[in-house]
Amino acid sequence: MADQLQKEAHFMFQNREDNTFHQYFVNSMKYSYKPKQLHTLSRKCATLLLEIFTKMYEARHLYPLIISSSDDSINTYKLPSLGYEITDRHLPRGFVTPRKPYTSILCDFLHCNCTSYTNCSDNGIVLSCGHGYHSRCLRRCNFKCLICLKYLKNEIKINVESLKISMTKDLGENEFIVEQDEGTGDNESDDAEAVAGEIEIEDNLLENTKKTFLSAKNCVFLF
Ligand SMILES: [Zn+2]
Ligand SMILES: [Zn+2]
Repeated sequence: MADQLQKEAHFMFQNREDNTFHQYFVNSMKYSYKPKQLHTLSRKCATLLLEIFTKMYEARHLYPLIISSSDDSINTYKLPSLGYEITDRHLPRGFVTPRKPYTSILCDFLHCNCTSYTNCSDNGIVLSCGHGYHSRCLRRCNFKCLICLKYLKNEIKINVESLKISMTKDLGENEFIVEQDEGTGDNESDDAEAVAGEIEIEDNLLENTKKTFLSAKNCVFLF
């Protein structure tokens, strides 16, 4: 009897309007891609990845070049293997501070007095910001990176100031965001037909990219 009441209660609960169970599990959700479209997308993705891997493989002996440097010492590099540009902002935080981490010396502490004659010189750690410290130097900084702390305090002040300015500034008429209606999906069948025609093209493209990738690899093994 109790079981039957419980089932009844579940049934009534699931049929109530606007309950979350109904919303997520009973109403059918329409997936926005058809199997044919997914097939084409997976081919396009495979072709793109293979092209990237081929470029990376061919340029694996080339080193990044610094192509420009801003006033606040942020360098921009060209990555030959990936073919795009990155800045110091892609690296750990220490590289955007005025005092970038040393690459040849362990300790970045300004008042470091460890030398090869003192027994603290080999004992140290590189923090997640990229700055390195001798254990003794890190203890003297209360286990904080003082270079990054100073940088962050300064940046927070700058951000707060610009936030204050933006909050007190009058909005012009053109600065309101206009919401745009997304497509209603009426042309789905047309899209599916168009995609079906692309499948063969994508398959051929993928085959060609595979051949290019394999020939790039084989060339290296021959020499
Ligand atoms: Zn040190
Ligand atoms: Zn740091």
